Amino acid sequence: MASGDGPRLRMAPSPTGFLQLGNVRTFLFDYLYARGHDGALVLRIEDTDAERSTPEAEAYLVDALHWLGIQWDEGPDIGGAHGPYRQTERTGYREVAARLTETGHAYECFCTREELEQDRRQQQERGEAPRYSGRCYGLSEEQRARLRAEGREASIRFHVPTGRSISWNDRVYGHTSFEGDALGDFVILRPNGLPIYNFANVVDDHEQEITIVVRGQQHLSNTPLQILLYEALDWSIPEFAHLPDVLDQNRQRLAKRRGAKGVTEYREEGYLPEAVVNVLALLGWSPPGGEEFLSLDDLCRQFSFDRVQRSNAAFDPARLDWFNGQYIRRMPLTDLIVAAAPFLQRTGLVPTGALSEEERARLSRILPHVRERVRTLAEIPSMVEFLYRDPSGLGVDSFQVKDLKRRDLAQTSEALEAVQDAVDRLEEWTPEALLAAMDGVAVRLDWRRGELLMAVRIAITGKTVTPPLIESLEVLGRAVTMARLERARRALAVVGADV
Ligand code: GLU
Repeated sequence: MASGDGPRLRMAPSPTGFLQLGNVRTFLFDYLYARGHDGALVLRIEDTDAERSTPEAEAYLVDALHWLGIQWDEGPDIGGAHGPYRQTERTGYREVAARLTETGHAYECFCTREELEQDRRQQQERGEAPRYSGRCYGLSEEQRARLRAEGREASIRFHVPTGRSISWNDRVYGHTSFEGDALGDFVILRPNGLPIYNFANVVDDHEQEITIVVRGQQHLSNTPLQILLYEALDWSIPEFAHLPDVLDQNRQRLAKRRGAKGVTEYREEGYLPEAVVNVLALLGWSPPGGEEFLSLDDLCRQFSFDRVQRSNAAFDPARLDWFNGQYIRRMPLTDLIVAAAPFLQRTGLVPTGALSEEERARLSRILPHVRERVRTLAEIPSMVEFLYRDPSGLGVDSFQVKDLKRRDLAQTSEALEAVQDAVDRLEEWTPEALLAAMDGVAVRLDWRRGELLMAVRIAITGKTVTPPLIESLEVLGRAVTMARLERARRALAVVGADV
């Protein structure tokens, strides 16, 4: 998709083995913009936190993004001309930090954790906002040598020039400005040589020729620091597009510790990537034409930052359910069979591996009826279980439901027997013939159609909620239907006699 001079965007996740929907939305917008503007998308792994950044955590990210249909042009898995794509593999941070020190933009800081902590406490007591005291700024060469001799290790700290305001024209928030004096000098390199986020991010964005930085608004206060770094290094400054927060039902930012689910949990629970993408795109953005259903391609064509709202948007799980149900209804049947297969296999209804022809045929007959009634793929197995298994534990209680409250067990047993006779005589096993047979019985016994169908439904499936009964019987076939009616009638007759 990259054309050479189109925009370059990046997804810069810190791999933690978890990807919440707010971050997915950021990456989606990156993807949509890059795709829609003939640009390039980079996946960069911000893995300087060695404890959490495991290969598994990176694999999780790649897998989750692929599932959603988000593709990139350069990344750790596919390479590219602007590598490395993992921060831990980049070796140049020290040199860049040294350049900043040589030009007087940065300095060695020997402060200990305790000293910094004490400064912070004192500032708080004075009612001041915490920021670096400047203790190590302007140390002489002798002073530094003495501290080193004491065995102190130095971080590299960037010096924020005084009396400056730093501003940029945000693609979402418009003109945004910060007072430099409030920022305080900040660490860019730890004593162990590992870069701090703001610094690594700037070096990488520069090296990878990123032209638009898209990220959550919690990073707004990092942007002035980064702009100062670009200026000090005499590098061109990318554009910034900060996105408002994605909130949960309690209007708090989506977060794992507050129960937000990771995107792969939605996959496990039977959500379709198309629905997740659609719902996330509409969180804080709307298409000019106001359509509700938008594919990734539609979104790529229509997405722009000027239609991103500045206010936070709340993620509504019920809305995702609704969209998911709609997508299940709209997808081609062959795709639905493929999507449903792992869920059927997981519950042991269908053997694992490739679906047999017979299985496909069976699913293609039942799923058109089932898909109208489910919101997730995970709801499908219980809806089709009756095709694979005899109802278990069928007994008197099974028939004591609201819809049959006017009927006693003997009447129900009699009705089932009448249905047995009627369907046994059918020449054709078609929905029309089955319905006519049921109606005939209902009229003869003076049952309502709904009552009779409920009794048959319970007899056949053991459940009160199923796909449409007549169609279900058609798919189930004559032999199994007859056997189950007989079984149910016997269960009722035996118990009925005891009572
Ligand atoms: N690794 C950072 C994060 O996950 C990236 C922020 C940015 O895009 O600059 O928050």
